[in-house]
Amino acid sequence: MSDQHRAVAIDGPAASGKSTVAKRLSKSLGMVMVNSGAMYRAVTWQILQEGVEPADSEAVIAALRKMEIVCGVDDGFSDIRINGRLLTEELRSEEVNNSVSKVAAIPEVRNRLVAMQRAYRASNDVVMEGRDIGSVVFPETPFKLYIDASEEVRRARRAGDGEADAVAARDAQDSQRKTAPLKISEGAIVIDSSEMGIDEVVEAAHRALISLGWE
Ligand code: C5P
Repeated sequence: MSDQHRAVAIDGPAASGKSTVAKRLSKSLGMVMVNSGAMYRAVTWQILQEGVEPADSEAVIAALRKMEIVCGVDDGFSDIRINGRLLTEELRSEEVNNSVSKVAAIPEVRNRLVAMQRAYRASNDVVMEGRDIGSVVFPETPFKLYIDASEEVRRARRAGDGEADAVAARDAQDSQRKTAPLKISEGAIVIDSSEMGIDEVVEAAHRALISLGWE
């Protein structure tokens, strides 16, 4: 059933440029772009609203059970509502940046969100970006990319966006957690975007997909 739809998995560290590449690829390939990080951010935003301590996994799990999470598609892009509220800009706040990796390390949170991520593919061709898309969400897809960039470049990109984000701290937590850590999944083509402009990265991603058998 879900095998009828194609999935491009794009993983990589924070601010590596993977969202921009995923957006551009999804447009040019006519696929839906799914930002899985927004889902972890949305759960984090909600627990912070409720005054739950992100490091208290029992409390996070209890709050998660009560959350109504609805994932949708709007104009080719994923969106997310929690308890009926559409979440957008609030997901990029410093508070969310500082806490999201703690929440994302909780297996119960991941289980619930991974099921919703896979559900996208039941009715859409998807370009999905995140940390564990090639390793956990769609391990069977042949179309796996890993977009990297030096820490210096990534820090500068985030600062250029006007966003306070300790990318190195987030990457350390995301790479060291037990469940679904950030890693280069088997078969993924690595693109280092440090010295590239966005057009070059998108072109490299296209070429990589073709070399992986994309027609
Ligand atoms: O991609 P973005 O930087 O918005 O992701 C925010 C956070 O969500 C990451 O730092 C990570 O902790 C978590 N995440 C994850 N698995 C994914 C996507 C994001 O753990 N597939």
